[in-house]
Amino acid sequence: MPQYADYVVIGSGIAGLYFALKVSDSGSVIILTKKQQAESNTNYAQGGISATIAETDSFDAHIEDTLRAGAGLCHRPAVEVMVRSAPHVIEELRMLGVHFTRRGRTLDLGREGGHSHNRIVHARDATGRAIEAALLDALAKRTTVHIVEHATAVELMTGHHRRGGKRSAAPTCYGVYALLPNGQVERFFARATLLATGGCGQVYAHTTNPPIATGDGVAMAYRAGATIANMEFIQFHPTALYDPSRPGPAFLISEAVRGAGAVLRNCGGERFMVRYDDRAELAPRDVVARAIDHEMKTRGDRHVWLDLRHMEKREVWERFPTIARECARRGIQLPEDMIPVVPAAHYCCGGVWTDLYGRTSIERLFACGEVACTGVHGANRLASNSLLEGVVFAKRAASYLVAHPPAPLGAEFDEILPWDDSGTANAEEWVLVAHDRQELQSVMWDYVGIVRSELRLQRALRRIELLRDEVEEFYRRTKLTPELIELRNMVTVAWLITQSALHRKESRGLHTMSDYPLPDDTRWRCDTLLRQGRVWCRPLTDIACDKAGQ
Ligand SMILES: Cc1cc2nc3c(=O)[nH]c(=O)nc-3n(C[C@H](O)[C@H](O)[C@H](O)COP(=O)(O)OP(=O)(O)OC[C@H]3O[C@@H](n4cnc5c(N)ncnc54)[C@H](O)[C@@H]3O)c2cc1C
Repeated sequence: MPQYADYVVIGSGIAGLYFALKVSDSGSVIILTKKQQAESNTNYAQGGISATIAETDSFDAHIEDTLRAGAGLCHRPAVEVMVRSAPHVIEELRMLGVHFTRRGRTLDLGREGGHSHNRIVHARDATGRAIEAALLDALAKRTTVHIVEHATAVELMTGHHRRGGKRSAAPTCYGVYALLPNGQVERFFARATLLATGGCGQVYAHTTNPPIATGDGVAMAYRAGATIANMEFIQFHPTALYDPSRPGPAFLISEAVRGAGAVLRNCGGERFMVRYDDRAELAPRDVVARAIDHEMKTRGDRHVWLDLRHMEKREVWERFPTIARECARRGIQLPEDMIPVVPAAHYCCGGVWTDLYGRTSIERLFACGEVACTGVHGANRLASNSLLEGVVFAKRAASYLVAHPPAPLGAEFDEILPWDDSGTANAEEWVLVAHDRQELQSVMWDYVGIVRSELRLQRALRRIELLRDEVEEFYRRTKLTPELIELRNMVTVAWLITQSALHRKESRGLHTMSDYPLPDDTRWRCDTLLRQGRVWCRPLTDIACDKAGQ
């Protein structure tokens, strides 16, 4: 049976849940989420949320730090909106029951790379889990909100899916097709649809992201004809735990550990970061990740060390209990033992292009959180600005929709076709899906990683296009499973990242090209936009903040 709600939200991380909470007084909400409701990147966020709270800090300083990290590509209006909203949303989260760590009568404020002040609000070292739990608790009390677990969104419903391919003048989203646990694909109609599907770290062989992070929202939006931006800017976190005995997402050693005084050493024992940057271990993530990559490649080492040996045991266990316990489970006793660490794919600065209210280039389709590109991160995200971005822009999208409720859907109920799986069968070649996923992850890691070149990117593109053809053919003749849906999306996202990387012929922020080692402001101070097979650059000076990517 098709279902209807005023709002359909895809994803139950910080962005989806906060949006749902904010619109729940003005209409019915269905949240679709592809695993259990708490399973999200949000749930694994450790370090915290940045906010100007200390008396010695200022909005201007937080704005400047964000712009500096973004290497000339941040959109200042978006940054200002985010930074100035931060203290207020922290207070709202506190009122919802998030127990942020306190120092005496004030919030304890941590320090992370690229920040000029202590401004990281945190719940010890499990900030995301505390937020996710509080938001889910608050939503459980709302009778207007219904969460559907294990429901995988497959495709956005647009004019293409109307009987006779009838399209409205402007591309419009009417909701989403989603695969339910009973194997059926159902239609979920809405006045407005929010993409809050998080990031895409899983396209890389080494990532801190959980298995849900397969870029589904970006891929669905791209196929629906939305404008996608800045996908070349993938952040590699410098310090994921190196543990070859355990496949799957790499356990993150939060930047806050370096903020608290831990130092990096190469396998020769040298504190190498002082050779690369005046800020040493507290340089922005891209600088630290590249330095580690360089040390590992030139020395032939498989990891570097994070050294906490000079720190107080009590302080380490009190401030970082999750990290200390996880290390102990793997035989690393803190702070006596050093932690082996490597960089891993962590965050996607690009995504579905939106304006300051989460509006995309498709009518009735909104996007917030890591799936969106609001312009706040530019070429590199400042640490702890992503939970903040998710919550601030979810709130703005909700306020916009409450103030401007879209008209109810009309004829579309009858005109949007049910999912057609005629001609598909249960396949016996599932090994192909697992194999293609691994192959894609290796290609992305080896050729579209921390340091890139045109040759490697061209090679990656050829392999990705072969995989794309193979996966599309398999998709057309096979009954859907979540794994197949994810693989198809991962291939699309890998293609978008590689195309964007090939287009940008310079090095800037997170995008390092060995053949173009310097930034080039005259040609490349622009966003990379992609839509329906076309890639182009739009200079930052052309940005009007009222409508997304038009
Ligand atoms: C280990 C780790 C530590 C981090 N630490 C910090 C930090 O300290 N501070 C900070 O600011 N940021 C941090 N980040 C980044 C931050 O956690 C994420 O950017 C942020 O949580 C993204 O929130 P979101 O709501 O956009 O998406 P997510 O929290 O990732 O939620 C996405 C949701 O969408 C669902 N979904 C995806 N695809 C589909 C589909 N096809 N159908 C249905 N549902 C779908 C998922 O199941 C999930 O519920 C960290 C990230 C990681 C991985």
